[in-house]
Amino acid sequence: MSVDEHVREALHRLEEEIKRCTRCRLHQTRTQAVPGDGPYDAEIMFIGEAPGYHEDKQGRPFVGAAGQYLNELLEKNGLRREDVYITNIVKCRPPRNRDPLPDEIAACQDYLDRQIELINPRVIVTLGRFAMQHFFPGASISRVHGQPRRLGDRIFFPIFHPAAGLYQPKWQPLLEEDFRKLGDLIRRLREPSAQTSYEQLSLFEEDESHHE
Ligand code: URA
Repeated sequence: MSVDEHVREALHRLEEEIKRCTRCRLHQTRTQAVPGDGPYDAEIMFIGEAPGYHEDKQGRPFVGAAGQYLNELLEKNGLRREDVYITNIVKCRPPRNRDPLPDEIAACQDYLDRQIELINPRVIVTLGRFAMQHFFPGASISRVHGQPRRLGDRIFFPIFHPAAGLYQPKWQPLLEEDFRKLGDLIRRLREPSAQTSYEQLSLFEEDESHHE
C-alpha cells in the first residue's frame, strides 16, 4: 500500500520542523533531534521515552543497547522492526540521560500528536512509564502493562521500557511475556474476522474515561 502523497509530505515537513526545534532547553545540548523512524503507513507505532547517547549521535531512535534488545523482542514474536514506526515522547536527548522534565514533555507533545494523526497507526505500544502516562495519566505501569486497551479507534498496549530488562535482568521474563502477548494481539488483529469490528475480539477492555 502506498502512502498518500499529502501524508508523506506533511510527515517530511514535520520531521524537518522537529530537527530545527528550539521550543525547550534540550535543543541547546543535543547533537541532533530524533524525530522517528519507520514506514509512514505503519500499523504499529512504538513510543519510547527520549533519545540516548547513540540516538543523539545518529539521529535515529532505539539504535543503542535498548534498541538491540527491542529488535530481539520484536523478531522473537513475529514482528519486524522495518514494519513498525518508532519514536519517543521527547525528541531530543536529555543531558546525561536524565528523565525528561514536565515542561520538556509539554513542549514536545504536539509533535507526537501530529505524528499519530498522520501515520494513523492501529496499535500504539508505549515503552516505559513516560509514554504510558501521555495517554493514561495517573495509571500505574506495573498494573496496566501487557493489557491492550481500546481508546477511540486505536488499541494501546503499555509495556515496560526495554532498558529496564537490560539493567535489571529480573524484569526480562515480564518484558518477554508482554511482547509475546503483543505478537498474539497483532496476529489476531490481522485475521480477516478482526477487520470489521474490534468488539469481536473480546479481550479488549473498553476505557470509558478517555477519548481521543
Ligand atoms: N530509549 C528510549 O526511550 N528511546 C530511544 O530512542 C533510545 C533509548
